[in-house]
Amino acid sequence: MPDLLVHVLVPWCALKLFQLRFGRPSNGVIALVLLGAVFPDLAALQYLGGRVWGYHVADLVLPLHTLVGAALVAGVGALWFTDSFRAWCWIMLGVCSHFALDSLLVHAAGGMVLLFPVVWVWDFQLGLLKSTDWALPVVTGGASFLIWIWTRRGCVSRKT
Ligand SMILES: [Zn+2]
Repeated sequence: MPDLLVHVLVPWCALKLFQLRFGRPSNGVIALVLLGAVFPDLAALQYLGGRVWGYHVADLVLPLHTLVGAALVAGVGALWFTDSFRAWCWIMLGVCSHFALDSLLVHAAGGMVLLFPVVWVWDFQLGLLKSTDWALPVVTGGASFLIWIWTRRGCVSRKT
């Protein structure tokens, strides 16, 4: 859970600051990036266990937490948009932010298999942070709150 908060709040803060400074990207684009930032962790559905259509759930969702699997799923999701390639690029920005943040963690499984299916090595991790550590979510939550206050202040001053 703290992990998921950080995955959402870090790109949100970065893009909101960028938006405050340059007026871009739009809130819709930020939503796409945030979507991309969370969906690799749909692989956590494997912990529900069980079988779907005769396959273990872990075998079906584990590729979501690889760059190739996430890119393919992002491609399918991007087909819902008129400019699919542009939507795919924004979703992949979120996916890349997810993997960049995950690479800082100590993984219980021994790392990520980031270059699957080319390399089957499970050791992509820097081991700097624990996913159960609440310090990073508290810091990013505080930063997000300050940025949100800052953006609201801008709205109020424009109305008066
Ligand atoms: Zn992850």
